[in-house]
Amino acid sequence: MPVEIKVKIKEIIRRTYNVKSFRLETPGILEFKAGQFLSVKLKGNEQLKRYLSISSSPTETCYLEFTKKLTESDFSKTLDSLTAGDEIEVQYPFGKFVLDESFPKIAFLSGGIGITPIRSICKYAVDKNLGSDLVLLYANRSVRDVVFKEDFDAMVKSYFRLKVAHVLCETEPGFKCTVGRINAGVIKNEIPDYAHRKFYLCGPPLMVEAMKKILTEELAVTAEMVVTENFQGY
Ligand SMILES: Cc1cc2nc3c(=O)[nH]c(=O)nc-3n(C[C@H](O)[C@H](O)[C@H](O)COP(=O)(O)OP(=O)(O)OC[C@H]3O[C@@H](n4cnc5c(N)ncnc54)[C@H](O)[C@@H]3O)c2cc1C
Repeated sequence: MPVEIKVKIKEIIRRTYNVKSFRLETPGILEFKAGQFLSVKLKGNEQLKRYLSISSSPTETCYLEFTKKLTESDFSKTLDSLTAGDEIEVQYPFGKFVLDESFPKIAFLSGGIGITPIRSICKYAVDKNLGSDLVLLYANRSVRDVVFKEDFDAMVKSYFRLKVAHVLCETEPGFKCTVGRINAGVIKNEIPDYAHRKFYLCGPPLMVEAMKKILTEELAVTAEMVVTENFQGY
């Protein structure tokens, strides 16, 4: 059963020029699974309520974190005006975008802010040393849009079963990436054993739909092997 509670913001971390993480004081026992989401209500106002994935892992027990791409909306502006010590209302946990630990090989396809639940899942797998073989294909416009770059760099160093491949719209000197978009060719190239993997897709609905189509129609991946999370609202 989801719980609804008031919690204080503990810390705010800038991730990119338009993305910030908000760490909340731990609300007692952290009953959620990596990849699930919460609702955030600001100023007690139903209009200022959004669903946001939990970007921290249940293994990070000192805080509960969500990460928001800040837009021109009233919600974004109000959130961005908050500081440590301010109180917000959260309700959690929701969602079924959680790791199938029984499946040994997993691939994540993500774009932009769609990385948030995947960061939670990967961090959980690394901290628990689950043994799952993980590949992430992460698409962004440019390197300045890549969220959690340092986190993933550190995870790759400490967990040899995690590979991260970046896909950018433009080249970036000194940054290893594929230039273009995630398509069947890029998937085959970066994930040669794709036929043996369970896929997790997260991002804006149009992107998720396009990725699913490539997997099922061009690469003959069965629909049961594709788990999706749509960030409605983008
Ligand atoms: C399960 C789930 C998980 C999600 N997880 C995340 C997450 O981890 N991180 C995340 O960032 N999002 C996440 N989302 C999406 C999130 O819920 C919001 O829909 C999204 O962040 C957009 O909200 P917003 O308030 O920024 O913009 P909205 O109010 O929804 O507005 C949409 C667009 O209109 C523009 N706009 C709105 N009002 C104005 C205005 N007054 N003037 C000018 N332009 C305006 C905004 O700039 C924005 O681009 C998730 C959604 C779901 C369903």
